[in-house]
Amino acid sequence: MTNSPIWHPFTQHGLGDPIPLIARADGACLYDADGQRWIDAISSWWVTTHGHGHPRIMAAIREQSEKLDQLIFAGWTHEPAETLAAELIRITPDPLTRVFFSDSGSTSVEVALKMALGYWFNIGEARSRILVMEHSYHGDTIGAMSVGERGVYNRAWQPLLFDVGTIPFPRDGQEQASLDALEAACAQKPAAFIVEPLILGAGGMLVYPAWVLAEMRAICARHGVLFIADEVMTGWGRTGTRFACDQAGVTPDIVCLSKGLTGGAIPLAVTLCIEPIFAAHFSADRSKTFYHSSSYTANPIACAAAGANLAIWRDEPVQHRIDALADAQAAHLSLLAHDPRVRNPRRLGTIAALDIAVPDSGYLSTLAPRLIAYYRDRGVLLRPLGNTVYVMPPYCITPDDLAQVWAAIAGSLDEL
Ligand SMILES: *Cc1c(COP(=O)(O)O)cnc(C)c1O
Repeated sequence: MTNSPIWHPFTQHGLGDPIPLIARADGACLYDADGQRWIDAISSWWVTTHGHGHPRIMAAIREQSEKLDQLIFAGWTHEPAETLAAELIRITPDPLTRVFFSDSGSTSVEVALKMALGYWFNIGEARSRILVMEHSYHGDTIGAMSVGERGVYNRAWQPLLFDVGTIPFPRDGQEQASLDALEAACAQKPAAFIVEPLILGAGGMLVYPAWVLAEMRAICARHGVLFIADEVMTGWGRTGTRFACDQAGVTPDIVCLSKGLTGGAIPLAVTLCIEPIFAAHFSADRSKTFYHSSSYTANPIACAAAGANLAIWRDEPVQHRIDALADAQAAHLSLLAHDPRVRNPRRLGTIAALDIAVPDSGYLSTLAPRLIAYYRDRGVLLRPLGNTVYVMPPYCITPDDLAQVWAAIAGSLDEL
């Protein structure tokens, strides 16, 4: 038992692992009060894009906090939200015309599901079934868990999770089987298909090709099934383009964005949708209202931070940094790709991942915590998913720091 009253997320306190106390962060690095340094090689759980403490985002937060800290968003509005929404509509494909604010990725997914069902309900068509992809992760609230992979992570709550149709993950060489399964499921008139575009994050950094995403989108369009892209992790450059859907030329009906929306500085999420979904709720009849809100919807300080993120994308060579990081990741990964202890090396944009070959699956259960400790002791914050080690750093990471991360990974193969 520790002295702290804090119950940490996804943390088994019973294992007694030390919990470092971080005092400050800068760029791609974290520091404790004694100045000990860790390289944040997973962008503080996939949120930090341009680096910690980006001066323009920090300035936007400071400046906004002196003007307007918080405002009820039902029936009222403010400039940071208006500017941000207009800019989001400008940078996304034309059919996406409406922006609904919330405060986390999970909530943006709940909103997406509620929008989809609200659409069918309001136009008077009885559709409520949701299709999902095998191994998906969409968050930890009940609805988000319902559309995600079932497993040890949500066993206790399974009695509450709603039933969904699951499309097999499009494994290498079996893409057509997945597409056929989607086609057959869409013929049953479900409400929507929700998918993580191009890469399944928490499911183990599982990558599938852009043409499959494009085909899935086309199948949904043919059957009038709403296509929801959960870009909570993939958005803001991680996969090499601003949004993963860009690589497939796909325009979803609904898009969820969070994590890097504020550059990773402060919580905020949006769910964008096409006009017909908004139109189905637009009425003089108050019963057709979209009944969803949270207290901090479109918090002005968070919106200002997101506005600064978009300005950084506009004014700074963000794409160049992403391309350079992607190349560096490819080079590091190639050095380990033929190691007999490494399986399935893969990379998508700035994300690189590999599986460590473990002969004994009983071993697997203790592998991830042992790896986390190994990396932590070598000044690197990595958090493998089972036997999958992945590197997803902020775009500002220096070549030396990236080399240190990969040296730690190589070392862990020898050590373990
Ligand atoms: C992290 C994540 C979520 C949940 O976001 P939170 O902000 O943690 O609630 C949803 N979908 C995907 C794809 C994610 O990676």
